[in-house]
Amino acid sequence: MGGTFDPVHNGHLRTAVEILDRYHYSALKLIPCFQPVHKDRPSVLPQQRLEMARLAVSGDDRLSVDSREIDREGPSYSIDTLRDLRAEIGSDESLIMVLGMDSFLSLPTWHNWQEIIQYAHLLVVSRPGWEPDLISELSGFCENYRAASPHELQCAPSGRVWFETLTPLGISSSMIRALARKNESIAYLLPEPVQKYLEEHQLYR
Ligand code: ATP
Ligand code: MG
Repeated sequence: MGGTFDPVHNGHLRTAVEILDRYHYSALKLIPCFQPVHKDRPSVLPQQRLEMARLAVSGDDRLSVDSREIDREGPSYSIDTLRDLRAEIGSDESLIMVLGMDSFLSLPTWHNWQEIIQYAHLLVVSRPGWEPDLISELSGFCENYRAASPHELQCAPSGRVWFETLTPLGISSSMIRALARKNESIAYLLPEPVQKYLEEHQLYR
């Protein structure tokens, strides 16, 4: 699961654990980007976003943080990361990229987006405010690659798209940044250790 994680929040984490529980996947990596391609520069340092992500996953052994995009520096293209991961795990293992509906809808603007499906499956999760009827531009893509069942994602290495409805959580990093700027509470939107980190380092003020 890639993202800016500026900062990581319970929307990301709840998505991760619901997916792991529902499908008994063995592991899920959060992969913070170094430089997002379609967003403004993040407001805090890559190392700080990385540290917050590490604090956030410390309670669940199935979750980890992968720093390869931050180590690589430069614009963080998902295709490069997927190519890397594929080379590591070999050609037979299933690889699944988890992304929210908002990210999926922007897929046609991603670098070499048509190649992504050769390296991984896409597991698109619901996100409040982003409805599947906006998908029109991607309807051809969905027709070609839609899985008949989520289990197809475990039976082949890549090449399928599945849409999953999760507990709706209207939490976003932008919302947390806006609250912090106004000096309002961000409690219960993100893990406590991350909240403490933000406060100690005076981030997003
Ligand atoms: P920002 O508001 O700065 O854009 P964000 O909350 O969207 O931040 P990102 O780091 O951009 O967080 O998101 C990483 C991934 O997590 C994306 O695929 C996004 O769709 C997904 N995601 C983020 N928040 C949620 C949520 N509340 N529910 C479901 N998916 C989410
Ligand atoms: Mg976002």
